[in-house]
Amino acid sequence: MAAEDNLHLVRDQIASATKLRKIGSHPVSLIAVSKTHPAEKIRPVIEAGQRLFGENRVQESQGKWPELKAQYADIELHLIGPLQSNKTEDAMALFDVIQTVDREKIAKAISKEARKIGRCPDLYVQVNTGLEPQKAGIAPTEALEFVNHCKQELDLPVIGLMCIPPANENPGPHFALLHQLNVKAGLQNLSMGMSGDYQTAIEFGATHVRVGSAIFGERLQSQKI
Ligand SMILES: *Cc1c(COP(=O)(O)O)cnc(C)c1O
Repeated sequence: MAAEDNLHLVRDQIASATKLRKIGSHPVSLIAVSKTHPAEKIRPVIEAGQRLFGENRVQESQGKWPELKAQYADIELHLIGPLQSNKTEDAMALFDVIQTVDREKIAKAISKEARKIGRCPDLYVQVNTGLEPQKAGIAPTEALEFVNHCKQELDLPVIGLMCIPPANENPGPHFALLHQLNVKAGLQNLSMGMSGDYQTAIEFGATHVRVGSAIFGERLQSQKI
């Protein structure tokens, strides 16, 4: 099925899950994750009304998004993949939101660049809820202190938390933990849930779900997260 048809199905599912959830009355925003897909595949989804997109690589995004963003002024582009400090300047020039702030070095690099250019994307702190060694994100026990540090000492616009639960576990407890941390941190936004579990994430209070393959189709194995 074409990506724009999938988009409508996902939107319907989000609407149903939003009605059924027991916590929250906020709207749920869909971030269409377009990583690995070329501009020709993305354009019909924009034409179908989608405006929030997610990408996980800065360099790949530089190849397709400047032109799309010039053509459709109200696109909001989210970086959802790990950020290297030497890519901070490029990332801040292109992305409207960076969801993967997870360590002091990156927070400092963003703060420095923000002072230089006089603006800063909205930021999320990524939390490694499963404490997986290969995965980015700050440990849950350090998350609150890190959020406060970013906001108070570095003056960064941190607006939410983000997580990617371990692939082979029930995501519910991870979503519950992120929700709890978000409340404690006094933050508004909660980015959690992907193609396989976005309805569950909405049940647990997600404000933003990041959906790729359910819209654009399967990616090649080598290009998974
Ligand atoms: C790729 C990716 C997604 C989307 O994954 P799907 O399972 O294709 O929906 C969501 N979040 C992050 C961080 C990703 O890298």
